[in-house]
Order: sequence, then structure tokens, then C-alpha cells
Amino acid sequence: MDRRHFLNATFASIATTVCPHCIGSAAAQGLGGADAELLCGAASSLRSSQYNRVLTTGNKNLDRALSSEMKKQQKLYVLRPAFYLFTDKIKNAFATTKKFPEFPTSDGSIVYGIELMKEQLARGYWGGAVVAGVLAHEYGHIYQYRSGYFKRMRKLHKTVKFVELHADYMSGYYIGRKYQESGERVNVRTVASATYDIGDYHYNSPSHHGTPVERTIMLKAGFDLHNSNRNLSIDQIAAEGYRTIMKLYFKKRG
Ligand SMILES: [Zn+2]
Repeated sequence: MDRRHFLNATFASIATTVCPHCIGSAAAQGLGGADAELLCGAASSLRSSQYNRVLTTGNKNLDRALSSEMKKQQKLYVLRPAFYLFTDKIKNAFATTKKFPEFPTSDGSIVYGIELMKEQLARGYWGGAVVAGVLAHEYGHIYQYRSGYFKRMRKLHKTVKFVELHADYMSGYYIGRKYQESGERVNVRTVASATYDIGDYHYNSPSHHGTPVERTIMLKAGFDLHNSNRNLSIDQIAAEGYRTIMKLYFKKRG
């Protein structure tokens, strides 16, 4: 199926996000706590009592497209998180280590607001790529947690900035792989700008994700890595992402 058909057939009537706000505490949202940790995203106003988790978009074609996308990402990340949508009017997406009762053996969960997805898919031709990029970013957080990179990146700065930029790097690699497989040329800067135009400049906020420019640079760097080496494992990609951050921000080589 070509990309335009894929988008028109599956994403046209409904659209979905990233972790743009990420300012609430995990415990406050009922998504973290003693046995689970919120890894990305979630607006402060998202409380467990408001959180209406569902397993369908209400559109069978879109559900199939999302399921197919999750399976492709599982192959790169070698992880099987559960995937949920929520219907609340909060535009966000996030990853959590929480395992919900329906999928007790999952590698955590990725949760995506339908409102955000709708907004992203409505952006036109590259809307599907933005959604895939957001999913890959959230997969990246679950990978970081399980591999130790989450703690490692978190120690680098008082904000979550480097955790986020590292996830963006892995997402960029995935986008390169996805469109190389489809044979379609993708303009990664266009995808990045559509994804990160909601970026933030709250440099001192603990939830600062990096500026849109910083996030675009990291997504592009991951994408370029794929162009130079198309067969890397997720461990190798993550290590390159770490090295890139150390080089750009801490002037370290190697
Ligand atoms: Zn994130």
C-alpha cells in the first residue's frame, strides 16, 4: 500500500500525538507510583479520575493501521508495550511502566490521546508520519527505562531534556527505517516541524523537553544515522544517541 493510500484509507476521518506538556507528577496522575513510573508526557490536569482509557479509536481502519504500526516498532525496539488511547480532551501522549490488568505481561504501556492524534493526522500528508514518530518516541522511553538509559540521561540535567532528546534520536532512526522500507522519500525536517511546533522554551522547568530546534536536530541526527547504517540494533542506536548528546552538549568524544 502506498503512503498516500495508507493515509487516506486509514487516517483521513480521524486524526492522534507526542509528550508536549509533561508537567504532572506520575503519582498525582495515578499512572506511576510505587510499582510504575511515568516516563514521558501527561498534562498536569490529567488525573486518574479523568483518564478514560480505551482500546479503540472507533474507526476500524485506523485501529488496524495503528496495530500494524505498533508491530513494526516492536521489531526495532524488541519490546511489547500495551497501547491504549484515551478520550479525554487533553492533547498528549506518554509512556509509562505501568502494566494494566488487561495486559499483565506487557513491557509497560504507551498511551495516546485521541484528540492529539486527530489534530496531528489533520495536518495533512505527513500526519501519519508524525503519529509514527510520536509512537517511536514513546517506545524509546520504554526502551530507555529497561536498558538503564532513562536514569543515565536523567542524571545529566535538572530537567528531562536529555531523556527527551535521546528518545527523539531513536524516533528519527525509526522514521528513516519506516520510509526506507516503503520506498518513499520523507522530508524529515517537515515531519519534525509538524511534530515539535508545540515545543517549549521553559528552560528551567523540570518538564522542559528541549526547544523545537534542539528536538529537530536530534530527530534529524537519528534519521541521518539510518541513512549511513541501516542495520543497527536498538542498543547500537541508543548508544549513538547518547554519544551524540555527549558530543553536542558536553563536548565529549568517543
Ligand atoms: Zn518524551
